[in-house]
Amino acid sequence: MNFELAPELEEFRRTVRDFAEKELGPHVAQWDKEHHFPVEVVHKMGELGLFGLTSPEEYGGAGEHGSFTSLCVAIEELGRVDQSFGVTLQAGVGLGINPILTFGTAEQKERWLPDLVAGRTLAGFGLTEPGAGSDAGATRTRAELDGTEWVVNGSKQFITNSGTSITSLVTVTARTGTRPNGTAEISAIMVPAGTPGFVAEPAYDKLGWHISDTHPLSYTDARVPADHLLGERGRGYAQFLATLDDGRVAIAALSVGLIQACVELCTSYALERTSFGKPIGAKQGVAFQIADLEVMLHAARLLTYRAAALKDAGAPADAFKHAASIAKVYATESAVTATRIATQVFGGYGFMEEYPVARFYRDAKILEIGEGTSEVQRMLIARGLGLPVE
Ligand SMILES: Cc1cc2nc3c(=O)[nH]c(=O)nc-3n(C[C@H](O)[C@H](O)[C@H](O)COP(=O)(O)OP(=O)(O)OC[C@H]3O[C@@H](n4cnc5c(N)ncnc54)[C@H](O)[C@@H]3O)c2cc1C
Repeated sequence: MNFELAPELEEFRRTVRDFAEKELGPHVAQWDKEHHFPVEVVHKMGELGLFGLTSPEEYGGAGEHGSFTSLCVAIEELGRVDQSFGVTLQAGVGLGINPILTFGTAEQKERWLPDLVAGRTLAGFGLTEPGAGSDAGATRTRAELDGTEWVVNGSKQFITNSGTSITSLVTVTARTGTRPNGTAEISAIMVPAGTPGFVAEPAYDKLGWHISDTHPLSYTDARVPADHLLGERGRGYAQFLATLDDGRVAIAALSVGLIQACVELCTSYALERTSFGKPIGAKQGVAFQIADLEVMLHAARLLTYRAAALKDAGAPADAFKHAASIAKVYATESAVTATRIATQVFGGYGFMEEYPVARFYRDAKILEIGEGTSEVQRMLIARGLGLPVE
């Protein structure tokens, strides 16, 4: 049993940390205030190879030099500086690239992957709808085959990377028929940006993740060629559920980056800020809170990298799913607690946007919601124990 990352992964971590501190650090407070999505930084992330960490070399990816664990390291390091960039990478790979890589035809991969892997373009995946979130199988969006084209009608909501100036497509789940037992047949359809009838509505005004791009999407007789079906007809929902397991570990990695930032910010602040003639770090009331952060950091990181290692080792699906849900629920809830503690340690300054802890506090809450809420994770963990929970 080895609890350390390989030396080359630690070196990769330093490279991404350096990139994040230089390219993001000086600007994120301003971009966050302006809700600005800087596409040129996405291109730079692509040049660094971050979007290709799980893709084969033939599409420009890292091939055997990359891994799911290396993607988690990159997400953690971006997230340590700014959560929006971490989720842009997480969604770009997990929701944009991976479904095409896993389920796409050779033609679909050749057409879409080289630009996505290079970070020249981004893709989204639309599952969530106004009436279908945790219960994603309740999708109402429809796609009907009309001769050689799918005609898509409906709407999606909260879709990441779906409306940027470099978004090339959004894959959506849609009802494509009814099964003999009366349940919906759900398939995944790739809808390129610019398809008439497909509109990314104005971006949401969110509590956090201000730099990340999130839109509601509408489809009104949006027509795409029949070969834009992704994977097997009727397997769209199952395919998407498979991609969610990876996403959960990636969101756990994003949470680890946030807790790491809280530990570092609180430690240095507690050494420099004085009250009653001493640094506040000399008070047990403060120091013990920071010690708790360190405990959460180590536990969250171990759970996250264990789950990532199971994925890379090709562990049985049930073992990986269980580890992914455990990592997600623990790391995300710890991140929310960590940002609350960090804000407390900073006192009134923690409430001011002048310090990054305020942004981190706003950014943390969504971690417990996206890629399956904490309640959904607990439901899955309980089912894994054999409990008949609904
Ligand atoms: C910023 C952001 C980005 C997102 N990006 C994407 C994206 O790119 N693609 C995409 O498809 N979706 C995306 N989502 C959607 C996200 O995955 C959903 O919001 C999430 O799955 C929860 O669904 P919901 O919002 O409909 O909440 P609901 O499902 O309505 O849940 C409401 C509450 O009920 C609880 N609940 C529901 N069912 C159960 C149950 N069976 N047992 C116990 N409790 C339950 C939930 O845990 C929650 O607390 C994004 C969301 C946000 C906010």
